[in-house]
Amino acid sequence: MTARACTRCAELAATRTTVVFGAGNADAELMFVGEAPGANEDLQGLPFVGAAGKLLETLLGEIGLSRAEVFIANVLKCRPPGNRDPRPGEIENCTPYLISQIELVAPRVICTLGNFATKLLRADPAGITRVHGQVEVRTIGSHTTRLFPIYHPAAALYTPRTMEALREDFRALPGVLALPAPGPAGPLEPAAPASAEPDPEPPAPIAVAEPVAEQLGLF
Ligand code: URA
Repeated sequence: MTARACTRCAELAATRTTVVFGAGNADAELMFVGEAPGANEDLQGLPFVGAAGKLLETLLGEIGLSRAEVFIANVLKCRPPGNRDPRPGEIENCTPYLISQIELVAPRVICTLGNFATKLLRADPAGITRVHGQVEVRTIGSHTTRLFPIYHPAAALYTPRTMEALREDFRALPGVLALPAPGPAGPLEPAAPASAEPDPEPPAPIAVAEPVAEQLGLF
C-alpha cells in the first residue's frame, strides 16, 4: 500500500501538497486519531503542527507525556480543500491506511479526537458529546485495543467548556493506559479485577471490507 502517491480520491490528490501519513513512536502505547490535515499539516507533511497540535502537546505535557512518545494519525491522510469535512467516500478510501497503521503500531489505547475518528473507529454514529471519556474495548483490523474518545483539540480552542471537558478526559488518560492490555486473555495475562475494567463488553470488530461510511451511517 503506497499512501504517498495515493490517487484514490481524485480531488484530494489534485489539491494536496503532501500526504500526511502520521508521525511519532511506531511502538507507542498511545495513539491519537484526528480528522484530516489542515493547511499547516499539508505544507509540512506532519499531523497536528498548527494551533490544535500545540494544544495537544500542552495537554500531553500536563500528564507527563511528550509528542515523541505517542503516535498521531488522522482519518484522512490528505487535506480536504478549504478544510471542509471529510466525505463518506474519502473516509472509505482512506480507512485501510488507518487500519494498517493501527495494526502496525498496535497501541494499548487509541484516543479518537472528535466526531469523525470516533464514529469511524467505534463503528457507531453516536457523537463525541455523548461518548467522550468512555473507555471501550474494540477490535480494529486484527488489533484489539481500548478506545478513549475525546473532544477534538480544535473544538476546544474556541469553547471554554469543551476545553474543560477535554482537560478532564486527559486527566483520566493515565488510568486508562494503566489498565491491563485488552484482548483475548492468554495464559500469561492476569484477569483484570472487576473494578478496574470500566467496559465489560466483548470486543466489537469493525468490518473493514464493507463500505464504511454507509455501514456506519456517518452522515
Ligand atoms: N486537525 C486534525 O484533525 N488533524 C491534523 O493533523 C490537524 C488538525
